[in-house]
Amino acid sequence: MHEFSIATQVLDAAREAAADHGAATFEGITVSVGEASHVNPDQLETCLEAAADSTITDGDLTIDIETEPAYAECACGWSGEPGEIDRALAYAPNLTCPECDARLELQAGNECRLMSVTLPETDDGSDPDAADSPDANTTD
Ligand SMILES: [Zn+2]
Repeated sequence: MHEFSIATQVLDAAREAAADHGAATFEGITVSVGEASHVNPDQLETCLEAAADSTITDGDLTIDIETEPAYAECACGWSGEPGEIDRALAYAPNLTCPECDARLELQAGNECRLMSVTLPETDDGSDPDAADSPDANTTD
């Protein structure tokens, strides 16, 4: 399953990020899923939970999935969100520029990315700010 291999990669990246901060594990992740990626966010979440169960031993993982809008740029100077993103066509997107009909290359929205990792709270006297991750609670 495609989502499962993405989930594995995301968890690997999260593990690396945690290790960079000296943490052995992590409690939560925020993942961005591009609108034009052929990834089903619900399936990805299910796969993340399943993969986390087998690789992360202590407790539940909090999973936040955000959607990233598609964005493309054209050599003629047009840029923006392509209007005809179809999930069924996302395997081979054939998007054209509304200004000049050239084929567009997506600059964003066609992949999944790990956005942030929530690390366990440390109370061993180390600098708490060093282990801080971006606040997952958006205010909008
Ligand atoms: Zn163009």
